[in-house]
Amino acid sequence: MFRGTLIRSGNNAKTVKGDGEYETAIMYLAPFTLAGSNVCPMAETAGCVAGCLNTSGRGRMNNVQIARINKTKRYLKSRTDFMAELVADLEGFVAYCKRKGVKPAVRLNGTSDIQWEVAHYVTRHIKAVHPQQETEVRFDSVFHAFPEVQFYDYTKVYKRVYRTLPSNYSLVLSYSEANLAYADKVIEAAKDTGANVAVVYRTKELRDSLTGDHLEGTERLMNRPVFNGDDTDLRFTDPKGVIVGLYAKGAAKVDTSGFVLG
Ligand code: SF4
Repeated sequence: MFRGTLIRSGNNAKTVKGDGEYETAIMYLAPFTLAGSNVCPMAETAGCVAGCLNTSGRGRMNNVQIARINKTKRYLKSRTDFMAELVADLEGFVAYCKRKGVKPAVRLNGTSDIQWEVAHYVTRHIKAVHPQQETEVRFDSVFHAFPEVQFYDYTKVYKRVYRTLPSNYSLVLSYSEANLAYADKVIEAAKDTGANVAVVYRTKELRDSLTGDHLEGTERLMNRPVFNGDDTDLRFTDPKGVIVGLYAKGAAKVDTSGFVLG
């Protein structure tokens, strides 16, 4: 279990369920406008606010919500200071994983949809040849600064998958039928780029009935096979060109917006 000020591992049952090769640390911020400014630019369009995972698991607790809001306020107040805090956490997590003999995996958008690949520069103090000396190195992104870490996220900002992302950052599109125009854009982006698409189904049974098969009404969901995305959270290990089938948890169980299918 790793405890940083921004990222933590060992809290999420799905990330613990991995194969022991990776350990995942997740950063949970306050989604949408809960901390004052919007950190989920497509949330209204995609209709996912009501069914957001922010209120599931530990998110049910008031102190957890306050901590998420405080973290997000730090991000909104000074991106530079926040990224320095994140770098310190990542250095700690990498060292922790090394001691434990596992590979580090990190999800920065546990409950946010920030475009970390754009305009989120970081600096690191790297040891020079002389052990007492350090040089400050500026990186285009946290992904470039930590090539040894496998980062991954779900996103509703479909334009992100058109970008050339760093090789250690994997994105899966997040589907919602709350707005059919948005759903069409997600499908288009998936077809154009080959990106996987995560779909939340009402129940585990419904997900299982579709897993390994082709969906009915296939033109909307591209006739792709459904892959069980609940056994592990390690999305970068999924086969390519699939629907990542998840079942609804927390507030999503009663969502009627179209975010949850079935
Ligand atoms: S589901 Fe994702 S994009 Fe939607 S509000 Fe929650 S964190 Fe933001």
